[in-house]
Parts: sequence; structure tokens; C-alpha cells
Amino acid sequence: MIAKKEIDRILSGYDRKDLKVAALCSHSALQLFYGARLEGLKTVGICKKKNRARYDAFPLAKPGEYVFVDRYEDAGEVAEKLAEENAIFIPHGSAVEYIGEKIGSMRLPFFGNRRVLLWEADRRKMLEWLGEAGCSMPESYAPGRIRKPSIVKFPGARGGRGYFVVSSQEEFEAKSGAMLKAGAITESDVRNAVIQEYLTGVRVYPHYFYTPFAKDGFKCAEGRLEMLGLDKRMESNVDEIYRPMSVGLKVEPSYTVVGNSPVIMRESLLDDVLEVGKRVVESSFRLFGGIYGPFCVEMIIDENFRLKVFEVSARIVAGTNIYPRGSQYSCYIFGDEGGMGTGRRIAREIKVAAQKNALQKIVY
Ligand code: ATP
Repeated sequence: MIAKKEIDRILSGYDRKDLKVAALCSHSALQLFYGARLEGLKTVGICKKKNRARYDAFPLAKPGEYVFVDRYEDAGEVAEKLAEENAIFIPHGSAVEYIGEKIGSMRLPFFGNRRVLLWEADRRKMLEWLGEAGCSMPESYAPGRIRKPSIVKFPGARGGRGYFVVSSQEEFEAKSGAMLKAGAITESDVRNAVIQEYLTGVRVYPHYFYTPFAKDGFKCAEGRLEMLGLDKRMESNVDEIYRPMSVGLKVEPSYTVVGNSPVIMRESLLDDVLEVGKRVVESSFRLFGGIYGPFCVEMIIDENFRLKVFEVSARIVAGTNIYPRGSQYSCYIFGDEGGMGTGRRIAREIKVAAQKNALQKIVY
């Protein structure tokens, strides 16, 4: 991973009055460019030629300029050019997935703490982080010790794709044995599987934002935690599995994200949800120098209002795309400013940091 001091050196050559927001044209790029435009920042989209029409279709959310690449994994090749133009890169989920390991060495200032990507990419490290935060989590089992109906997450399975559920140790052995035989997984995948108690309840995905620059509101670390919105992922086929079951079909559940829907929560649950966000931020400082900007903690709330967390996404999440003009919660923080979506919030943070000459704090 490129050293922080090297990024600080690049940043020290930036013209703070002429910054650009850069993002890969995918995931939540429309929202990021739209939000940056509302904040008066220039934008640049790293794009594949065939994807340009998707962005040109939305004139207020397309990037001010395009830089074309053949493959997103080669985005690092345009880093130098972008750094010459004072660009700050926003690492969203597609960037992490497509650029892969090379993302750590990109010679371009990233919004947020780049170290967080290491903690998020490795499921075991991510769980260690949530544990250090003191969050209530599902029980975890080693591959030979399953005691309750569990969800099995092999390394590499992403977006819930490739997960499966077992009700006993025997079923786990039968299912993973068949997958091994078919060459779908390796012995090392079995050893490194994350196996969690299957949680029942309602899933919620809060959109948090940590800023060190504001001192009012919900105090957290040296600044404040903002809850900008909430969503629920729509997962196929598990979310409507009652339909085939209602006509007597037997279906294996799958967890592939196909969309997101807005959520408003019982007001009394906000206390616990805010507390989780705060703990995740404060533990990130103890473990790896902090998390700045947007993140999401995935959780399930049961019928006794007990909340358990099973994952952290340490960046802007696709669920925020529901609220480019702000949500039912962000208006209570930002008032009548035309709406504060997460994309716009990132641009605002960059502007505030630049004005305070403190970009180094929120950029790595
Ligand atoms: P992403 O990286 O997109 O967040 P992922 O591959 O890391 O996805 P998770 O977010 O861990 O996957 O889980 C995907 C889905 O599987 C969740 O949204 C949830 O519906 C279900 N799920 C995960 N863990 C549990 C659990 N312990 N109990 C019940 N359901 C779970």
C-alpha cells in the first residue's frame, strides 16, 4: 500500500481552490457527480467508452469530463494525469471490486482513510473490527463446530452471492463436500469460511458519515456522527421466497442484491443505531487510524428490539442512491439546503477540509 506521506506529498502540490472529484463510472457515480456539482466542485469520470451513454443520459449527474480506460482494473494508469488535475478519488464498491488489489497502490489521493479498504476486504479482519467496537454480533462457528442453523460465507463470495444456509454440522459437511467435489471451492475455502448463526428479524442498513470538522450533533471521536439515511437491500430470491413456497415449490434461498428500498425506523431504535455507528468509528481509530466519511453497518433487529450487526461497508454504499437529494433523516441535520445526499456530503467535506487547509486529515 502506498505510504500516507507519499499521498500527503502529492496533495501538498494541489491547488485547493481548483479541486476535482474523480470516480469510476459505476456504482454510485451519478450521485457523486451530481452532489459535487451542487457543491460547485469539478468532476471527472473514469469511464469505459461503452458506458458513456449511461452518464450522458443524465446531464446534471454526468461528469464534467471523461477519462477513458479499456478496463477498470487499469484505472491506476490514469492516476498521474488525474493527480496533475487536483483530483480526489472516491473509492466506491465497484472501484474496490474492479481495481482489486492494485487499488492500494494507486498514486492518487483518495477520500477517506485508504487503510480501511484492507480491513473491509478481509471478512475476518472486518469481524475483528466489529468485535473491537463491542458490537453485538451473530455467533460464529469454526467449520467443524456448527451448533445452530447458520449462513456459510466462503472467501470470495460477494454481495451475498454464493452464500448458503445449513441447519446442522452434517448438512454443512454434505453441502461443502459436494461443492469440493465439483471444484466450486477449495479445502482452503472450507477452512477459512465464515459461518454465522442465521439471524432472524428485519434487516436495516444505516448510512453513516463521520466528520472530524463539526462539533455539534451526535458527538463521536473528535467530531460528529451523522446518520444520513437508512435502506433495506432487496435480495433475490430470499425476499419473496414465500411466493414459490405458497404454491408448494421448494427453493434454495439466495442473497443476490437486486435493488434497495427506503426505510424509516421506530424512533426509539435510533439510540442503538447511532451507538453502533459511534463504536465503529471510535474502534477504527484504535485499530487503523480512523474511518472518515461514509460507511454502513449491516444489521438485523429482532422482535425484542435486539440489534445484531454482521458486516461493515467502509465507504459509500449503493443504498444511498435512493436519496441523492437527502433523506427523511438528513434534512434534520442539514435543514433546507436543497437536500444533503451522501454524494453531496462527500463533496461538502472536501470543500470544508480544503478551506481549513486540512485535506490531509480526510484524504489518504
Ligand atoms: P456486500 O459486500 O455487498 O455487503 P457480502 O457478500 O459481504 O455483501 P453480507 O452483506 O455479509 O454479504 O450478506 C449478504 C446478505 O446475506 C445480507 O444482506 C443478509 O440478507 C444475509 N445475511 C448475511 N449474514 C447473515 C446472518 N448472519 N443471518 C442472516 N442473514 C444474513
